[in-house]
Amino acid sequence: SEKEETDINALADECLSLSYHGIRAKDDQFRSNFELISDPTLPKIQVIRQDIGRVLLNLINNAFYAAMEKAKTEGTEFKPHIKVVTRSGQNEIILSVSDNGTGIPQNIIDKIFQPFFTTKAAGEGTGLGLSMSYDIVTKGHGGSIEVQSEEGKGTSFIFKLPITN
Ligand code: ADP
Ligand code: MG
Repeated sequence: SEKEETDINALADECLSLSYHGIRAKDDQFRSNFELISDPTLPKIQVIRQDIGRVLLNLINNAFYAAMEKAKTEGTEFKPHIKVVTRSGQNEIILSVSDNGTGIPQNIIDKIFQPFFTTKAAGEGTGLGLSMSYDIVTKGHGGSIEVQSEEGKGTSFIFKLPITN
């Protein structure tokens, strides 16, 4: 597929509802926990829409999974929260996907972007989501992706896409 002028806010909204509706089929109690905070002044940018959609979906699904893992060890007062934020920076668009889930242990954080690295049980994860996301963002779009995580508190993935004309 080819790059096309894309409204990243609309794409983020689409991916969030796609993920949310997939999940809601299984459990209805998480309705209010998917949040999008979008910058209305964001310019449209040239991206392969389907690929950036894949990145967002994988990050959102990972985030939800981590929040649900945390929910297993917490009381009923724990509310899984998945938040997508868009903003514009200097010649780039910055997106983040954050969760209040398990966090990522320090000893594996350097491995998560490697192909086939997964901590999920067989059938629950292939370990390809983040390596695919890394390639799409960097090689495919000249952007960057990084992770910030605190064990037991949660995780944020931040990725940046250049604004090109
Ligand atoms: P998969 O989801 O199939 O395991 P990914 O490449 O998407 O593969 O992710 C690799 C691993 O990175 C996951 O198995 C998990 O250990 C870790 N990970 C990714 N996102 C998160 C997150 N939001 N919170 C905690 N761990 C995460
Ligand atoms: Mg994944």
